[in-house]
Amino acid sequence: MRLIYGKLYKHFGPQEWWPAETPFEVIVGAILTQNTSWSNVEKAIANLKKNRLLTPGALKAIPVSRLAKLIRSSGYYNQKARKLKNFTRFLFQGYGGSLDKMFQDDRLILRGKLLEVNGIGFETADSILLYAANMPMFVVDAYTRRILSRHGLIRPDASYSQIQDYFMDNLKNDAGLFNEFHALIVRLGKEICKTAPECGVCPLKGITWEVS
Ligand code: SF4
Repeated sequence: MRLIYGKLYKHFGPQEWWPAETPFEVIVGAILTQNTSWSNVEKAIANLKKNRLLTPGALKAIPVSRLAKLIRSSGYYNQKARKLKNFTRFLFQGYGGSLDKMFQDDRLILRGKLLEVNGIGFETADSILLYAANMPMFVVDAYTRRILSRHGLIRPDASYSQIQDYFMDNLKNDAGLFNEFHALIVRLGKEICKTAPECGVCPLKGITWEVS
C-alpha cells in the first residue's frame, strides 16, 4: 500500500483536502456531495456562505424549505436539506451545538453515533471523522472499490468495511496519510482509472499487486 501511495503522490502531488475553510463546512460538504459532483456542491456552499448560513446555529434556525432552495444546485435538495437539519439537531442535542465537544468523543463511539443520524452513511461519517475531526478513519468510495477490484484485491461485491479494513490493516494509523491517500485515489479515479481505464498513462501500471 505504501508503494501505491508513493507512486500516486509522486505523480499527482499533494491534494490539500478537504477544500473548506472550517470543520463545519467540511461536514456540510460531506453531506451535500452524496450522489453529485463537487462542482455542484461548490455552488450550494457558496450560496450558504453568501447568506451567512455556514454555522450550526444558522442552519438550526433556517426553515428546511428555504435551506432546500439555497442548496438546489447539489441535487436531491429536499432530501439533503433534511439531512443537514438532522445533523444539526444531533449536534445540538448531543453537544450543545459545539463541534469541539463532538470531536472529544472517542473515534469509534462518535462513528457509531453519526451512523445513527438519518442520512449519514459510512462514507459520509468517515469523511466527517477524517476531514473535519482529523481522526484516522479511511474513507472508501466508488473509485476505491473500482481500483482495488480491477486488480483483484477485493471482490467487486466486497462490503464497505472489508475495503476499509484492507487499507487500515496495511497502513500506519495516521490521519494525515489517510487524508492524502483517499484524495489521491479520487484523483486517480477521476482522471485515469475511469470507466474505460487508461492504464498506459497510469502511475500504477506495472506494479505487482499483492495482498500483504
Ligand atoms: S488505470 Fe489501469 S493500472 Fe491504473 S489503477 Fe486503473 S486498472 Fe490499475
